[in-house]
Amino acid sequence: MKPYLGETRGSLAVDMRERLRACLLPETEAAEVRGYLPSAIWRALADEGLLDLPLNGEDFVRSAVFLEELGRLGYAGVRASIGVHAFMAAAYLAWFGSEALRARYLARMRAGEAIAALAISEDQAGSDLSGLQCSAQPANDGWLVDGIKRFVSNGSQAKLFVTLVKTQARRHALAGCSLLVIDAHAPGVTRTPLNLLGWKSADVCDVRFERVPVPRENLIGKADKAFRYLMQGLDFERMVAGMLALGGAAHSIRLLDRFVRQRIGHGAPLSVNQSIRHELADLIAELRLVRSFGYQVVTQHAEGRLGSGDASILKLRSTELARRAAGLCVQFHGARGYLSDSEVARLYRDASAGTIAAGASELMREMIFDSVDAEALLD
Ligand SMILES: Cc1cc2nc3c(=O)[nH]c(=O)nc-3n(C[C@H](O)[C@H](O)[C@H](O)COP(=O)(O)OP(=O)(O)OC[C@H]3O[C@@H](n4cnc5c(N)ncnc54)[C@H](O)[C@@H]3O)c2cc1C
Repeated sequence: MKPYLGETRGSLAVDMRERLRACLLPETEAAEVRGYLPSAIWRALADEGLLDLPLNGEDFVRSAVFLEELGRLGYAGVRASIGVHAFMAAAYLAWFGSEALRARYLARMRAGEAIAALAISEDQAGSDLSGLQCSAQPANDGWLVDGIKRFVSNGSQAKLFVTLVKTQARRHALAGCSLLVIDAHAPGVTRTPLNLLGWKSADVCDVRFERVPVPRENLIGKADKAFRYLMQGLDFERMVAGMLALGGAAHSIRLLDRFVRQRIGHGAPLSVNQSIRHELADLIAELRLVRSFGYQVVTQHAEGRLGSGDASILKLRSTELARRAAGLCVQFHGARGYLSDSEVARLYRDASAGTIAAGASELMREMIFDSVDAEALLD
């Protein structure tokens, strides 16, 4: 953490911001319309070294700055797409994948040549993964995979799916599950883009697997032991989602602050009204608190001691803050914020997915209640 404290973290943020803006901002609107980031952008990000940022260790603080700055661009679909590829899906391969698997997939992911997706959710397996039905039957030297994964970001453009499957059909809930890398071009894979309210550039799809052959070497870690990997991966995912949403909240608050200072009503800027000033003051105060907590959580992860409770607190509070900030953006922009193609309306639509994806707020509260020792806090 030491090299990134204070000013150094600030200058790193400025550097990241400039590089991200140069790479992404000219493309974001087109990506929202098209539904995904084009391959040239992935390569440009890779050329900047932005798809190869640390997933753990002391240097992870650099990644956290990147995630926050990616969020500050104000495009939740873009940040989700990159976050899933370079962090959430990559972590399972980097931490638990064999050397051969890492050599085969991670190197191409880091070069922006192979886009990765994370295929965990199903119709009957969202907050409660015990309803998982996607199955892998032993065949030849590997498996045949059947099932439908829902709401898979990067779905249509992915070259690989890090997929949660049941390898022991009879065992209960997550016991007997495995993580497999499924090649998107294998026979039997069909992807269907979904028309979501927001996150338009996140390329969210349903993905159907019909007797898809998966070789044994595409197993991540050990067979039937995915629960163990998920425990670590899901906490990481919540922290990553939290840092991205933190940047998103900052973007909305800045937009709102600028607007109320320049919009004139009754002969004065909107910002002279105490009710508006206080709403903004509350947002700014909450942002500062959550941001400071966010970097504490990042430090915990960098030191190898990320806890479920704190990862969930960060995810809960930053996504809820982003949603509140986007809601107030609409309110104080008046009717122009309600125009469907305005930036404010997009922020509003996008923010409501943040409190569902990567774990709904209610689930985060359950995790917090179960993990944090309230007695110790009160001592
Ligand atoms: C834009 C977007 C992108 C996504 N990308 C991916 C992806 O790339 N890969 C992937 O695998 N999945 C992805 N998901 C799926 C996401 O992880 C799930 O939506 C999430 O886990 C919630 O599951 P669910 O939608 O089935 O809701 P359910 O589990 O059916 O819950 C419905 C609602 O009930 C409430 N609820 C749930 N549990 C409780 C509880 N214990 N107490 C009180 N209330 C509760 C919550 O409000 C929740 O939203 C994405 C989702 C969205 C919206």
